[in-house]
Amino acid sequence: MITEITHVEDGEKKLIQSAYRQLLRSIKSEMDETDQKNIRRAYELAVEAHASQRRKSGEPYILHPIAVARICAEEIGLGPTAIVAALLHDVVEDTDITLTDIQKQFGVQIAKMVDGLTKLDGAYNSESPQAENFKKVLSTLVEDVRIVLIKMADRLHNMRTLGSMPPHKQLKIAAETSYIYAPLAHRLGLYAFRTEFLDLCMKITDPEDYQAIAKKLQETKRSREDYIQSFIAPLKKQLDEMDVKYRIFGRAKSIYSIWNKLKNKSVSFDEIYDLFAVRIILNVPPKKEKLFCWQAYSIVTDVHRPITERLKDWITTPKANGYESLHTTVVGSQGRFVEVQIRTERMDEIAERGFAAHWKYKGVNNADDVFERWLDSVREILEDPEGSPVEFLDSFKANSLFNEEVYIYTPKGDLRVLPKGATALDFAFSIHSDVGYHCTAIKIDNQIVPMGRMLKNGDRVEIITNNSQKPSEDWLKLVTTGKAKAKIRSAMKEERRHKGELGKEALGRKFKNLRLQAYEEAIELLVRHYRLNSHVDLYFAIAMNTLTIPEIFKKFHVEHGRLKLIETLKPVETKKEEPVRRPRALPPVPRLMINGEPGEQYDYALATCCNPVLGDNIFAYLTANAGLKIHRINCPNAANLMVNYGYRIMKADWSSTVTQTNFVTRLKITGIDDGPGVIERLTHQLSLMGLNIRSLNIAGTEGFFEADLSLVVSNTDQLNQASRALKNLSNISTVTRIE
Ligand code: MN
Repeated sequence: MITEITHVEDGEKKLIQSAYRQLLRSIKSEMDETDQKNIRRAYELAVEAHASQRRKSGEPYILHPIAVARICAEEIGLGPTAIVAALLHDVVEDTDITLTDIQKQFGVQIAKMVDGLTKLDGAYNSESPQAENFKKVLSTLVEDVRIVLIKMADRLHNMRTLGSMPPHKQLKIAAETSYIYAPLAHRLGLYAFRTEFLDLCMKITDPEDYQAIAKKLQETKRSREDYIQSFIAPLKKQLDEMDVKYRIFGRAKSIYSIWNKLKNKSVSFDEIYDLFAVRIILNVPPKKEKLFCWQAYSIVTDVHRPITERLKDWITTPKANGYESLHTTVVGSQGRFVEVQIRTERMDEIAERGFAAHWKYKGVNNADDVFERWLDSVREILEDPEGSPVEFLDSFKANSLFNEEVYIYTPKGDLRVLPKGATALDFAFSIHSDVGYHCTAIKIDNQIVPMGRMLKNGDRVEIITNNSQKPSEDWLKLVTTGKAKAKIRSAMKEERRHKGELGKEALGRKFKNLRLQAYEEAIELLVRHYRLNSHVDLYFAIAMNTLTIPEIFKKFHVEHGRLKLIETLKPVETKKEEPVRRPRALPPVPRLMINGEPGEQYDYALATCCNPVLGDNIFAYLTANAGLKIHRINCPNAANLMVNYGYRIMKADWSSTVTQTNFVTRLKITGIDDGPGVIERLTHQLSLMGLNIRSLNIAGTEGFFEADLSLVVSNTDQLNQASRALKNLSNISTVTRIE
């Protein structure tokens, strides 16, 4: 079939064809004739289907699926099947082509993948809560990992080309990316993806900081490269003698990770030494990997003095996401700390491509089932019928999905991996739910410990069980893993149901005596009246005597076989309540534009978590009962709000007519404590600028102080002026806005 591209101009036609040729060149896996034919056909079908569509940027839509397919091939290393699915990923969603068409042309497997991608896409576009969508992503993951990998490529290309979207859309997509896709990429071992996701998100949420760091990195590039060269030159000499092929180079750290360091450690850019890491990649046969890596380590530490506590050996025990590498930090010239990562080509490919590369090397090392083990735990949580989607996402974020692990031994010496923060009781449930249910005592290294004891790497844990033991509500506080929580909850529910049988019987007898006929209706009426969650709770309350039958029949009686609330107790005609007017927040809030219109009809207040100031980029969040709350877009809560309650987010801008107004903002100030002088200089400087201090708290130890300053300003310009002026005072090291 020859596709005629008629809807696009010649120039665009060339653009599309050249993008396709680049895609073909980027495929590294071996292909037979059928593969090649399939890719060609998928390309032609996609070109035809998307012919009349354009992206927001104006370019032909087809360039997007081609780019996604290329990311799959080039950056994840996926094979022909995935490339075909990537080319077709938006076809069913956006055009007249149906799944049946695809199945006819490309077979069941590809149709299944396209279907999975369409569903994930629908999830992302819809208004349904993100936690629900996330669950969908994970179910897909368990079904066919490639679908999620293609989805990652899709998201990455969308993030790379986000510029032409309107700002509020950009924010929402960035929030979702940093909240779900970046951690997921990390968990799937796609480190490069995670880094790029976070950098691209930061570019949207904190554009100024992003540009500032990018500029500094550019400015210091030369001196950094010189340093790296002088650092690796003596290493090269000795590595050459090992007589294996290797690569050695320095890599700048990502803008996002530098930014995090600036924020968390309160240091300035010039004070961050580890702006780069040095990586040594050895090309050696699988059986000799460990030996050569340690040999390289020995060379590195002969040349540069190591900080021994910083040695991390993820070769002997790989991370649960499959990462293998040897990390050490050494002291280079001028006393600078340099991190050196030593690994083999195979380990490097796994580190960059995670999951995808993992399968290629299956069976090479003995820890090869890390991903399967993880997938099993995903499956377990998915299969748990209890718990709401939000709880589900929380428990995932809290442990089994994103965190690091601890390594625990059974009394027989078997190794088990649990999420960091897991307790002794979690360990019991990880062995088997029955072991958890009947756990009476736990020994770590032969000592009895509290069941809620947090586990440490290398703990040898022994569980003592007794069949008469049963879980109780308190146990929920002793565990942190989703699995253990779910198991305890379902046991409690079963217990409640069981105990509730007594209540159910008692109520049933009473109903029978009173000749009640509409049983279901009566139960529902009682559940509603007493604000209970379910009939199980009602029976349980009766069984436990927290709600007695006489109590119920003081309020209710049976009339013509139906349960009725006794008249006298019936509330008088429910009047339509006047909407409660809330007092406006103080200090006075300036006029805002909400969704592009004057926001007068809304009650709004500035959020106290991030204290926005006139000039900040902001958004509005519609709360359940307190009107609109105005947050900064880089508020630490923003991502969570946008992802889980996207439908409550409204666009907000400062109205141009704002004149007078006072904003309270908080600054963290650190510096050297030289007695009362510091405070005096601080307050003096602020009063010089005509600024009012709301509060000032100073804490200091060993000649170092940290102050929390609450300041009234009228806009961001004034705030920036103030923080610049404070920074210039002697003995002040950092001034940062508290988020
Ligand atoms: Mn797409």
